[in-house]
Amino acid sequence: MTPQAELDGTTLMRPRVSEPADEHDVMREQLEYLIAHAAERGTCGCSDCQRYLRVRSLLLEIFTEPAPQAALQLVAIPMAA
Ligand SMILES: [Zn+2]
Repeated sequence: MTPQAELDGTTLMRPRVSEPADEHDVMREQLEYLIAHAAERGTCGCSDCQRYLRVRSLLLEIFTEPAPQAALQLVAIPMAA
């Protein structure tokens, strides 16, 4: 008489439910993505580059001295007679 192994077939492995991503992880990912993009391509001017520049200026804000706003150099407009 062989002892019948009790195999519980009802314990199914639960598929990993995708949890809502941690916002901080998303931020880190985005930051890494943007840095990688800027490092690879330089600033090519695409929307990712613009995001990179914005984020960078925000993150580096505390490291930059409050510089007096540089006056925009206006291109001299030729006077029409
Ligand atoms: Zn770009």
